[in-house]
Amino acid sequence: MKKKTGIVKDERYLRHGSYLLNPETPSRLKEVYDLLDSPEFRDKFLLLPPRYANVEDLMLVHSKNYIDMVAATRGQRLTVLDPDTHATEESYDTALLAVGGCLSALEAVIEGKVDNAFALIRPPGHHADRNHSAGFCIFNNIAITAAYALRQLGLKRILIVDWDLHHGDGTQNIFYRTSAVLYFSIHQYPAYPGSGWLTEIGEGEGRYYTVNVPLKAFADNATYVMVFRRLLQPIARAYRPDIILVSAGFDIYQHDPLGDMQVTPLGFATLTRLVMDAADECCAGKLLLILEGGYDTHGLRNSVGAVLKELSGETHVSEDDIHRLEYEAEQQRDRIIPQVIAQIKEKWPVC
Ligand SMILES: [Zn+2]
Repeated sequence: MKKKTGIVKDERYLRHGSYLLNPETPSRLKEVYDLLDSPEFRDKFLLLPPRYANVEDLMLVHSKNYIDMVAATRGQRLTVLDPDTHATEESYDTALLAVGGCLSALEAVIEGKVDNAFALIRPPGHHADRNHSAGFCIFNNIAITAAYALRQLGLKRILIVDWDLHHGDGTQNIFYRTSAVLYFSIHQYPAYPGSGWLTEIGEGEGRYYTVNVPLKAFADNATYVMVFRRLLQPIARAYRPDIILVSAGFDIYQHDPLGDMQVTPLGFATLTRLVMDAADECCAGKLLLILEGGYDTHGLRNSVGAVLKELSGETHVSEDDIHRLEYEAEQQRDRIIPQVIAQIKEKWPVC
């Protein structure tokens, strides 16, 4: 079935960190935007104009002191926010536009202007915590989007799926004690930032509303598909979110310089299909992807292309293909799924 897919795409996202020697470079988005301007992709998606987030939006998640500290970098040639994260003259404004792009996309999905959307923004967000930047992230785009959906749009339950190579420690910390956001992360372990072990399942009212699937290096399409089928989908069905947000990192791509995972563009399309199926069952298909990492620009370009085709229904990964990958994963006998089940089976219908 064809779907109306929105995208956030704006040249102003290239203004952050243009002269830094950092893997999170403007050329990542340049490649993706170049693909979107090609005849194969042009005019296929509804362009959603981003707005600049305001301080009130940021304060849904971040402290005023931290926001003021980042705001003070405006116009400064170089500020070190964290060993991996630097601000240049226009980084603060670009980060506001990144958050605002996600909020524009959220509103478009909730209002039904589009069926689903992909915010192709930078800087990324999932390592940013209430009071600090980390891992190339300045403001936590997805956490602010989830908090905005709850407080300003009246949604009750948000599912965040984080398939970036790295554990989204910022997002996990921000929602660790609430059941209104279920954070599901699948990531390489051990790896930066070091968190995301399977015993981290939330606390207090949030107990069982954080689910971590730490994978050994070299996991392939089959392993990811198995985790989505056996863990993510049953949890989503039981939780019944009002929308699904995805921290879509492409550093699990098979040739990414920062990771060891083996996911291909077809693998990304398959993960997208599995999340779309969950969204169709739970929340009339409402789904918003937000770009996180992905440092092989060629891989990023092709993988984002595969995801967008799947989101809009131009391609449709078949059940047969999914079954074949599940069968492959069964042969590998990875022990991670039973280990995660042991942590969360009291709450979620996983077996
Ligand atoms: Zn990452």
